[in-house]
Amino acid sequence: MKLAPSPSNIWFFTGSQHLYGGDTLRKVADHSQTIVNGLNDGGLPLPVVAKPVLTTPDAIHTALTEASADPECAGVICWMHTFSPAKMWIRGLKALTRPLLHLHTQFNRDLPWASIDMDFMNLNQSAHGDREFGFMCSRLRLDRKVVAGHWEDAAVHSAVADWMRAARAWRDGQGARFARFGDNMRQVAVTEGDKVAAETRFGYSVNGYGVGDLVAKVNAASDKEIDALAAEYLGTYETVPALRPGGDAHAALREAARIELGMRAFLDEGGFKGFTTTFEDLHGLAQLPGLPVQRLMADGYGFGAEGDWKTAALVRALKVMAADRPEGVAFMEDYTYHLETGAEKVLGSHMLEICPSIAKGKPRLEIHPLGIGGKADPVRLVFDCPAGPALNASVVDLGNRFRLLVNTVDAVEPEQDLPNLPVARTLWKPQPDFATATAAWILAGGAHHTAYTRAVGAACLEDFAEMAGIEYLLIGPDTTVSGIKREIRWNDLYHHLAHGLGHT
Ligand code: MN
Repeated sequence: MKLAPSPSNIWFFTGSQHLYGGDTLRKVADHSQTIVNGLNDGGLPLPVVAKPVLTTPDAIHTALTEASADPECAGVICWMHTFSPAKMWIRGLKALTRPLLHLHTQFNRDLPWASIDMDFMNLNQSAHGDREFGFMCSRLRLDRKVVAGHWEDAAVHSAVADWMRAARAWRDGQGARFARFGDNMRQVAVTEGDKVAAETRFGYSVNGYGVGDLVAKVNAASDKEIDALAAEYLGTYETVPALRPGGDAHAALREAARIELGMRAFLDEGGFKGFTTTFEDLHGLAQLPGLPVQRLMADGYGFGAEGDWKTAALVRALKVMAADRPEGVAFMEDYTYHLETGAEKVLGSHMLEICPSIAKGKPRLEIHPLGIGGKADPVRLVFDCPAGPALNASVVDLGNRFRLLVNTVDAVEPEQDLPNLPVARTLWKPQPDFATATAAWILAGGAHHTAYTRAVGAACLEDFAEMAGIEYLLIGPDTTVSGIKREIRWNDLYHHLAHGLGHT
């Protein structure tokens, strides 16, 4: 991913107190370092940095304030090896602005049955020390993740890894900039939203730019640059003859290259992490950008079509979560259905802009007419996608708050070839079943645009929603329609009470 997230790490704090004496505190520090080494050897997506053992309110406040000010610190892990009276943590936890993971583990995996004595008991106290810390976090109403189990256990590593991926995306979003070329597709509701609320809540900004400013960059691309990029296309994709040199549509391929160069220049110069387009505002562009958008997404840019900036930001967030995974992330739309009883499927696609990072095999570079937008035929990548567990996610603006809606799905191979379908596509069966999943999605107000991935699971998105302090709603294997109706009503009440006066 060319537009990689900036370097970030996780700080590891161990709580204790002076009651136990220097020898014990030295052991606590040694064990803490051993656990950090173990986590770093476990293939986790972010490095963990061991910090000195914390034993006083001032040291705790200073440490958590430093974590909150360090631009590379994406989150903190806290663990209480011994007892650490939690009133000492109040001031520090109130100053903490980074995501918090409470690791509820014990240094010794096993009870030393034959040799256990009070020295062991006084050192391995997390069973009650972590409860004291947990009480204070709950007393302060702190959203955090609690991961329980031995620190060498694979399930613990997996849960920590999910949280790290979410923390990396959260850090990446702070101060991130998204460019909106043109406005919204006229009259469309779900792609609108409160950009002030989004910046307050998520930390990213969205601003509009006249498409003429983009066209100026597109027109500035040189023939030499266009030659080089067109050659790169031909070397990268299976290209239909019409688009090759000497082919009827080779000029359209060069036009796509020109648009990509202009878009890339605009986004690079402005330091943007994502963008939106709309086919209703293409003045001065020869084609609706298909291939250029697909390639920019593959490089890590978030994207939303028809002005959908919430999905553009979500696609970017998922790309950062998945930065260490091979499966890719794409902008997606629930496009059309296969409604055979008991074998219902959704065909996910878009007019053009599905990211080739999710493709199965080498994408084909093709050109076809587009009966919308009134522009020249756009060049696009066409491909199928692999089967396997996947998810769709949507951020919904409910007027007074945001909801992150997730549906876990099973991607499936197409039963037959789709020789006349001129766009990239994937097929899936939503969980728990088609009727429940789609009814629940519609009741929850989920958009037709989503971020689609096989790279991360729903737990990672749940962690992300918690970091943002927004509602998380999962449509998964255990969902029922009546259950999700109740959950929506309860969540409405909870979020109204928790954030009703606009406090963040
Ligand atoms: Mn759309």
